[in-house]
Amino acid sequence: MKSEIEILNLEENLNKLEIDLENQYIESGKKILELSINEQQKIDSLINEIIEIKKRLIKVKKEKQCPSCMTYNTSDSNYCKFCGKSIKS
Ligand SMILES: [Zn+2]
Repeated sequence: MKSEIEILNLEENLNKLEIDLENQYIESGKKILELSINEQQKIDSLINEIIEIKKRLIKVKKEKQCPSCMTYNTSDSNYCKFCGKSIKS
């Protein structure tokens, strides 16, 4: 449950950042002749945030869900961290 909400939040955040990046590209395009280091840093910062969220999404999506209590556990877990039941796959 917790991870599903996190996936939704991450995807929403990712969509927002990708739109922000689009807008930033448009904004930067207008100023292309006077593109400053500052503009480049905004783009780098958006790209970095997007990369981090994509990495986090991949990680969260790989988590194993406990069939008993539905808690998400890391993909290498053998036992649920919440209820302790075996979640070997
Ligand atoms: Zn469990």
